[in-house]
Amino acid sequence: MALELVTIPCLSDNYAYLAHDAATGATAVVDVPEAAPILNALRERGWRASHILITHHHSDHIDGVATLAAATGARVIGASADAHRLPPLDESVDPGDTIRIGMSRGEVIDVSGHTVGHIAFHFPDSKLVFTADSLMALGCGRLFEGSPAQMWESLSRLAALPPETLICSGHEYTAANARFALTIEPGNTNLISRSRAVADAREKGQPTVPSTLSDELATNPFLRANLPEVKAALGMEAADDAVVFAEIRSRKDRF
Ligand code: ZN
Ligand code: FE
Repeated sequence: MALELVTIPCLSDNYAYLAHDAATGATAVVDVPEAAPILNALRERGWRASHILITHHHSDHIDGVATLAAATGARVIGASADAHRLPPLDESVDPGDTIRIGMSRGEVIDVSGHTVGHIAFHFPDSKLVFTADSLMALGCGRLFEGSPAQMWESLSRLAALPPETLICSGHEYTAANARFALTIEPGNTNLISRSRAVADAREKGQPTVPSTLSDELATNPFLRANLPEVKAALGMEAADDAVVFAEIRSRKDRF
C-alpha cells in the first residue's frame, strides 16, 4: 500500500511532510522547520510520528527536531556524514542504505550540492521522493557547499527516477523560480502554462508542491542543462552539461 502524503507549510516558506503507512500506523515526518504545525497535523489525523527523516543540516529544516522527538519519541534518522552538525540521531544512514516506514521501503540518495551531505529519501512503491533543497519545483537549491558538477550529478540521479515520481521539496519558491526559468526558455510552452498554473495556485494560497518529475523534466531549467535547445539558447552548444548547469545556476544567483 502506498504511503499517504501530507504537505505542511512551516515558517514563512518551508514545507515539512508526513508519510503515513495506514497498514501499520507508522508515520514519518520529513524535516522539522518547527514542531507546532507538525504536531497539529498529526493530532488532527490521530497519527503518531514514528520516524523523523532529516535531509540536511540547515536550521530551517532541523530547528523543531528536538521538540518533536521529545513529544513523540520518534526515531531520528539522518546522514552519518552530517551527524556532527545534526540533532542527535537514533540512526545514521549513508547513500545506498534502505530504511523502512511500516511496510514501505525507502532508499537514501546522495544529493549533495546545496550542502555536502544532503540526502533525499526515495520511496519507490509510493512514487515519492523527498528532495528538500536539492531538486525543487522549477528550481534547485543554491550551492552553499558543493560544486556545480556535484549538484548536476545529484540532479541527474533524481532525473533518472520514474517520471511519475512526486518531488516533495522543501520550499515555496516556485513563483520566483518560474520567472527565472522563463528568462532561460521564454518559448517553452510547457513552462509558460506551468507558470500560469503556479501564479494561479499562489493567488489562491495553495502550495505548488509536490510536483511530478515529468513536469520538472519538461520545465525546470536546472534539469534541462543537457538539452541541445537549452545549450543553444545560452550560446553554449559545445559545452558540457555540468558547465551549462553552472551557467544557469550562476544566472539564478544574480537574478
Ligand atoms: Zn537548506
Ligand atoms: Fe531550506
